[in-house]
Amino acid sequence: MTDLGAIVRDIAAEMAEATERGTVADYIAPLKAIDLARFGIALVTADGACHAAGAADEPFSIQSISKVFTLTLALGRVGDQLWQRVGREPSGTAFNSIVQLETEHGIPRNPFINAGAIVVSDMILAGHRPSEAIGEIVRFVRGLAGDEAIYVDESVARAEQASGYRNAALANYMAAFGNVRRPVEETLGVYVHHCAIAMSCRQLALAGRYLMAGGINPETGRRIVSQRRARRINALMLTCGHYDGSGEFAFRVGLPGKSGVGGGILAIAPGRAAIAVWSPGLNERGNSQLGTLALERLVQRTGWSVFEPAEDA
Ligand code: GLU
Repeated sequence: MTDLGAIVRDIAAEMAEATERGTVADYIAPLKAIDLARFGIALVTADGACHAAGAADEPFSIQSISKVFTLTLALGRVGDQLWQRVGREPSGTAFNSIVQLETEHGIPRNPFINAGAIVVSDMILAGHRPSEAIGEIVRFVRGLAGDEAIYVDESVARAEQASGYRNAALANYMAAFGNVRRPVEETLGVYVHHCAIAMSCRQLALAGRYLMAGGINPETGRRIVSQRRARRINALMLTCGHYDGSGEFAFRVGLPGKSGVGGGILAIAPGRAAIAVWSPGLNERGNSQLGTLALERLVQRTGWSVFEPAEDA
């Protein structure tokens, strides 16, 4: 039998030795200060066991990983109509790129690039005040993880709001096409706050369980989304979850995954495990350098890639 505890401990030990650690994101001031030496890993299996190593209980800025949760929430709110305002294709461009928006009439390629996630925030905001929308997102994530301690790091939200010229450009541009419908500063306020949610690897792996378990939170038995929707969110994570590095991530790891510039990655091995890794150094595509390497090694040692024949089949 695979000793998952030993595997995650070995991976954490190997990552502690790694010399190529990438570069910390520097465009959101508080993220600059994070120690490049940090590494954490946690996974929760289908039977509820949790294995963790390294800094698995240290909260970090989940940034774009939050887009998985806001997409889930917005789909619950507006259903498949969401796809009239956001596409489902990989962008092949950077996370904050504006180039495709002009030719594609303000419809972002997918919900995981910044433009797409801003539209999703705009949908969650509809009919609410920004503080209510932010509160709803945080409560949703706490419920998924079963942990009331999850919080928004206000200093990160404020720093991003102060320097978020590109996201403001994206939002204003989409507003010109009628695809951001609430006041732009309110929509951006919701967006930066959900990006500023702080979570540990353990909390993140727990929050991702519904995507591992066909849409059900295995702890509470509560259905979060239909099985079909969980499958589709996983498909989007596989094809679009790492921006213009999504092909490379699928090639190396072969799991649905969503990265964030805080250095976290949430990866899903459907039917098997929800996995979170964190190391703040990013590669040239803005995805965690060691997080990706750690997941690559985990998949090699467990055979969990979605492209691998199941051992028990
Ligand atoms: N809040 C970040 C931004 O909008 C998210 C980017 C990311 O995590 O990839 O720039």
